[in-house]
Amino acid sequence: MAGQRGSLPVVAIVGRPNVGKSTLFNRIVGERAAIVEDRARTTRDRLYGDAEWNGRRFVVVDTGGLEIDPDDLIEAKVQLQARLAIAEADVIVFVVDAITGLTPADLDAAELLRTARAPLFVAVNKADNPQRELEAAEFWSLGWEHTFPIAANHGRGVADLLDEIVLALPAETEAEHARKVREAEADEFARDVETGRLRPFIVGSEGSDGDGSGAEDDADEDFADAEAVAASDAETARWDAMLAADGDEPPAIAFVGRPNVGKSSLLNSLLGEDRMIVSDIPGTTRDAIDTRIPWGRTEVVLIDTAGIRKRGKVASSAAADRYSALRSLKAISRADVAVLLIDGVDGLTAQDAHIAGYVVEEGKGLVIAINKWDAVEDKKGTTFDTYVEWIRHEAPFLDFAPVVSISARTGQRVGRVLELAVDVWAERRRRVGTGELNRIISTASDRQQPPMVKGHRPKIFYATQAAVAPPTFVFFARDAASVHFSYQRYLENRLRDEFGFLGTPIRLVFRERAGIRIERRAGKRSARAAGAAKRSR
Ligand code: GDP
Ligand code: GDP
Repeated sequence: MAGQRGSLPVVAIVGRPNVGKSTLFNRIVGERAAIVEDRARTTRDRLYGDAEWNGRRFVVVDTGGLEIDPDDLIEAKVQLQARLAIAEADVIVFVVDAITGLTPADLDAAELLRTARAPLFVAVNKADNPQRELEAAEFWSLGWEHTFPIAANHGRGVADLLDEIVLALPAETEAEHARKVREAEADEFARDVETGRLRPFIVGSEGSDGDGSGAEDDADEDFADAEAVAASDAETARWDAMLAADGDEPPAIAFVGRPNVGKSSLLNSLLGEDRMIVSDIPGTTRDAIDTRIPWGRTEVVLIDTAGIRKRGKVASSAAADRYSALRSLKAISRADVAVLLIDGVDGLTAQDAHIAGYVVEEGKGLVIAINKWDAVEDKKGTTFDTYVEWIRHEAPFLDFAPVVSISARTGQRVGRVLELAVDVWAERRRRVGTGELNRIISTASDRQQPPMVKGHRPKIFYATQAAVAPPTFVFFARDAASVHFSYQRYLENRLRDEFGFLGTPIRLVFRERAGIRIERRAGKRSARAAGAAKRSR
């Protein structure tokens, strides 16, 4: 596996089922966000994860996930893991359970693991309190020099464990060293960002976009400034609360569009006899009613269904148009995803594009539904593709949005509308790991450098995803204000190629990092790294 993963060293996590291997894996790889987003299952299925600690990168393997036959005895499972770890790992973390204490399966595994040449650390997990920490001492009897009481689910003791793991890794390769020189300075910023110390650009707040204004140009500015820290802590807490709260909220979907495009017909088609309405919830605007309906294993909320029904009866007029537009805007601001209906016979009109533009500005997900497909004449196999091409051409800024042709009248593909909306909802909440993100950006900028603007070539150091819904990426760069629009587009396209983000706007924010500060930090860092290297010898 080391070969597959390039030059990065491999840290294998071994242990009986239920001791907390995958919890530790997630903690090290940093996928808490994914769990919050209820992707726990996919996370669980991930056997490999890239991690970084104290400037060293490595691959973590959850050997528990490698079990092939669920009917195997526990002993057999652990033995298989142990063999794999012995064969492949540069460092082994043997996880045991402070609550159950030492078991025969642990002893079996230990016997095998003793033959490993790789350094091994015993992680006594579930040492949630001082009492259990004391009890963890029992595992010293296994005979390994390094035994760490940890609580993987709260992170207790994990940092100390990681410190030791990193010191035990084999010397870094040339390639890793080269990459590190390039990225070391940015790591420091990254940690500040991740710990919340450096988070002025927080979370979907309007007005932070495009703020490469160099507010932080002052190289001596002190990030530890107490007020700033307090503010960003509050932001972090707010953000965490928002993520957690959001986790329980079903997707909120708004049908929007000009009068007579078929919004109420679509609604009726979806709410038809066979579909049970779970509840009507008063919306936040006066006389707005939202409707909750079952969808798959969950539910979706359709925003302002009252407004849609009402509008169905309004004759087309300038006043009706305005009313409809206003109502649409209100619905969009409360929704996660907007389904923009356009009239298949009329095609995309200026007002359609206007509403769509508002969806993008608000950072909401977007699905374009071409309605009245039944009434589009002379359809051929290529009609839909031609239609989509034309929309892309007319409104290139909507090219991220999926398009579907439907007929609210016949019911053709109406279910697909909600399917797409829910997909988009999930994409909008997707969180990308910092390591993965930076590899993509690094490759992208190797392939194509930012163009010079007025004699300056911006240099991007580091990127991190600061927010979801919509996905918001912050790039730390020198000459951030000079990152040309075309280059922002290039980066956005790379992110979309790599991660999808179907139907959701994504935001790129460029923050200035003054070079002088980076060099100073880099100096400090390499001194520390050198010290660490000495200690490990
Ligand atoms: P694995 O089968 O070894 O991968 O174990 P899991 O990571 O799935 O964890 C098994 C159970 O132990 C889960 O219910 C976890 O929530 C729980 N667990 C994990 N870490 C801790 C911890 O530090 N303290 C306590 N009390 N429980 C934990
Ligand atoms: P709203 O104002 O957007 O809610 O639009 P309505 O749902 O009230 O529809 C306006 C008109 O378009 C009505 O006469 C509908 O019968 C018609 N209509 C709606 N959907 C379709 C469709 O899929 N095909 C055709 N041919 N007509 C439709």
